[in-house]
Amino acid sequence: MPFVKFSKKSSIWIVIWQKRQYYNPNYIKIQVAICEKSLFSNLAFCGIMVIITKIVSLCSFFNQNEFIEGAVSYKEKGNYMKDLYRDYRRKYLIYILYVWVIVTIAQLFFIEPLKAGSYLTDATAKKYLMKNILLPAGINAVLYLATFILLRNAKIKPKNKNYILLTHAATVAMVFAISKITFMAALAFLIFPVFMATIFGEKSYLNYSLLLSILSLLIVPMVAPFFSLVKLENQLFSYVIVVIILFVMWIMATLLNDFSRSRLSRIEESELHKEDLEGQLLRDAMTGLYNHTAFYAFLEKFTVKNTSEEKIALAVLDIDNFKKVNDTYGHGKGDEVIVFLAEILQERCGEEHYVCRYGGEEFAVIFRGIGRKEALKEMEWILEKFRKHRFEWTTEPITFSCGISEYASGLMTDKELFSITDKILYRAKENGKNRCLL
Ligand code: GH3
Ligand code: MG
Ligand code: MG
Repeated sequence: MPFVKFSKKSSIWIVIWQKRQYYNPNYIKIQVAICEKSLFSNLAFCGIMVIITKIVSLCSFFNQNEFIEGAVSYKEKGNYMKDLYRDYRRKYLIYILYVWVIVTIAQLFFIEPLKAGSYLTDATAKKYLMKNILLPAGINAVLYLATFILLRNAKIKPKNKNYILLTHAATVAMVFAISKITFMAALAFLIFPVFMATIFGEKSYLNYSLLLSILSLLIVPMVAPFFSLVKLENQLFSYVIVVIILFVMWIMATLLNDFSRSRLSRIEESELHKEDLEGQLLRDAMTGLYNHTAFYAFLEKFTVKNTSEEKIALAVLDIDNFKKVNDTYGHGKGDEVIVFLAEILQERCGEEHYVCRYGGEEFAVIFRGIGRKEALKEMEWILEKFRKHRFEWTTEPITFSCGISEYASGLMTDKELFSITDKILYRAKENGKNRCLL
């Protein structure tokens, strides 16, 4: 007698399954096999093994890349560590749906063995189908939908979303344990939310899940008689064993949780370190401004690679007669001048515009969102302040010369923009220095 009938007349079964190529996981091959009814019990067994493999594959949640991806997505928002588990929750929603569909279908395969084991008669089989399979499937569908809506709600804080995920895991486990209570071992499934909590590496999540599991453990026996196919009076011993299993698993989960925590902090540390190193690579050590490499990267990004209509102006400046400053007062004083100019440039331009030390005593500013005339005003303001400043070691004013131009989209490259601006700077030098020219 086959477990499931697709067609009463046919003596063959058509089995369809999907296969992933190990060298290309995105390629899914649909395979079809035709087999005789007698083979079906073996195939049902294989099907269950596939389900188990899929559940085990949930362990990919714990793979390190998930953490790193999460960290990056959070970094993009400019707020480190804020929502590290967005991807985890997304995957939970996908996998739980997958498991729910497979488990519901797989249960249909057990109706016949339950009859063979005299748990069910033909008369009670229908009731079992309604009460123990379809009703829990319906409840799960409602729970899933509610969780799905809540987890997608942008107004709910990430931390609360993690609690919602755990609450869903706990209710799913409880529904499963209740509907399969004929077999006490199903109660062991109540540890599910505790394991889901280990990923967060935080005791509060773990304790919350444990509380839900204990609560379920108390609720289940109350409603169990309605769902069980056998009398549960003699099952007390099994119940105690399950409680012991849960307790042992909880201790293991605590270990896993601690491990997750320490691994997570190591990843966080190395992410911050990496960010720090990346930052250093783009900065000039003496002034803290962006360096020559960063200047060209930004210039390309905001000009030729920019698709928006944003105006871009460029200023290139060079301190006047700087060799004389060095020769007269020493390189230490020369450095002081460079650092001072860097400070007023940065102070005036802020984070909005990009102030770079092009090299030696030459600087460049990429102005975003303003044209050359406005950029000229900015640079004249800076030159005025620089000129008026009196260093302790000289009464002479120190000045700079500056060339300014604007990017014309489609008419020049970033390198050409720089070269044009540099030429204007040299015109400013030739015309007597101490000025900004367009
Ligand atoms: P001009 O007005 O034509 O620019 O004359 P200048 O003397 O400034 O000529 P130039 O720009 O060619 O001189 C650059 C000098 O800047 C040469 C170099 O010794 C000095 N310099 C470059 N980098 C540094 C630095 O980091 N610290 C100090 N103190 N001096 C530097
Ligand atoms: Mg120079
Ligand atoms: Mg100079």
